[in-house]
Amino acid sequence: MNMNVQTEAKLKMIPCWSCKGPVGVGALFCETCKAVQAPAAVTHFQRLGLEVGFDVDVAALDQLYFDLQRQLHPDSFATKTVKEKALSQQQATALNDAYETLKDPLHRADYMVHLLAVDGLPKAANTVHDQAVLMEAMEMRERLESIETMADLKALAKATKADTNKVISGLSEAFHDGDIETACKLTTRFKYLQKMLGEVRHVRARLMA
Ligand SMILES: [Zn+2]
Repeated sequence: MNMNVQTEAKLKMIPCWSCKGPVGVGALFCETCKAVQAPAAVTHFQRLGLEVGFDVDVAALDQLYFDLQRQLHPDSFATKTVKEKALSQQQATALNDAYETLKDPLHRADYMVHLLAVDGLPKAANTVHDQAVLMEAMEMRERLESIETMADLKALAKATKADTNKVISGLSEAFHDGDIETACKLTTRFKYLQKMLGEVRHVRARLMA
């Protein structure tokens, strides 16, 4: 897995827009003049101060996010310049984006596949490459259409959730091993399983009507 991106960027210093003092790339504030900085072009992981990895501790992520977001609270910028107000909002937006992406396992997997596939995604990434997945999708669709009772639906939802958990474990392993091609395939399957769970909700509404 390519971790160098993060390490290099952390060591890099750029001049503060306000006092021209040195600021670490990705820092929210200048240590010298305390001015809020523009969001740097860093990864979502760097923005939250995390190592690149699929196994994110969501409680720790929440804590990091709320700590950073607190520092950007509009009340703290009430008496600041227009530029600082605007920059703090840009930082808050970038932070939200990073948080929302990393919090959700599917979004995280999708993001990591794009981040780590330095030589471009495997050719199969954007097509329905896997005949087995395609077959499974068709079978699932048929099963969904034939569902008559709430018990059938619950069984299907349970099976889909169990499959999702297996995919998440598989992704953890694939990313750990740096096997992006497998991670890519599992991400596609994950998307499709999420879609299935969405369909399950529609069928539930149909049964309850
Ligand atoms: Zn400064």
